[in-house]
Amino acid sequence: MKFWDEIRIRELEIYAYHGVYPEENEKGQPFFVNASFFCDIREAGRKDDLSLSTNYGEICHFITKWMQEHTCKLVEAVAEQLSRDLLLQYPLVEELELEIRKPEAPIGLPFGSVSVCVRRGWHTAYLSVGSNMGDRQRYIDDALHALGAEDHTRLQKVSQLLITKPYGGVGQEDFLNGAIQVRTLLSPHELLDWLHEIEAAAGRERLVHWGPRTLDLDILFYDKLIYEDGRLILPHIDMQNRDFVLRPLSEIAPNFRHPLLGLTVMQLLEALDIEA
Ligand code: AMP
Repeated sequence: MKFWDEIRIRELEIYAYHGVYPEENEKGQPFFVNASFFCDIREAGRKDDLSLSTNYGEICHFITKWMQEHTCKLVEAVAEQLSRDLLLQYPLVEELELEIRKPEAPIGLPFGSVSVCVRRGWHTAYLSVGSNMGDRQRYIDDALHALGAEDHTRLQKVSQLLITKPYGGVGQEDFLNGAIQVRTLLSPHELLDWLHEIEAAAGRERLVHWGPRTLDLDILFYDKLIYEDGRLILPHIDMQNRDFVLRPLSEIAPNFRHPLLGLTVMQLLEALDIEA
């Protein structure tokens, strides 16, 4: 749970050209923007220093310029893309809520208000990386390079790489394993899809379960999220049983507490060592 302060902008009016209908793109119409920026402004307040906060005047000009320089069909696209660019532009903002209101939307009925509202922000995820085929070090170096190459994700910490014995009883070469901390704007599913793309770029084929792989990237934790569907389980379902996951992870996040098991990474590792 984060207890962020909030900078609010209400009813910023911008004449712009977003819309599905060609006449909306040609003639334009007014839009109203409401935004809340969640960030820690305590220090700025205590020291009376703008450089420790985010300048709301600047943000209003940024939003206005953005809305006028882009033409989207959907207000959903405006909200999605503008939030992303705001979060990239203003590093002190952890999370934001953005509402785009279109008071003259061509609905052909009397209506009070129509708008879309999104909440987006930075998340911390822990990943495990492993390779046991071919040039293992190079596959992992390439993966780290790929993880650091997009502006939606920042590589924050990388553990040492460990040489470990293969898991699951399938005869194969030793693994090289590590753990990574990233800060990302991606949702858990977007992150998973992106990791699969990076694996595919390393020539990974899903042939044998627990079999040899050029590159394996898993999501261990995504904030404190507890989630499960057909594609994704968070926290990673088996991480507490894997020495090769916990050992590198304990180097970069020893005190991170597993949201379901209630133990820190270091405690999970100690419990596993006792079992062994
Ligand atoms: P693996 O062979 O270990 O890479 O297994 C990956 C499969 O497990 C993927 O197809 C994912 O959809 C699924 N999966 C479920 N939870 C996770 C997770 N936390 N991280 C990565 N893959 C996951």
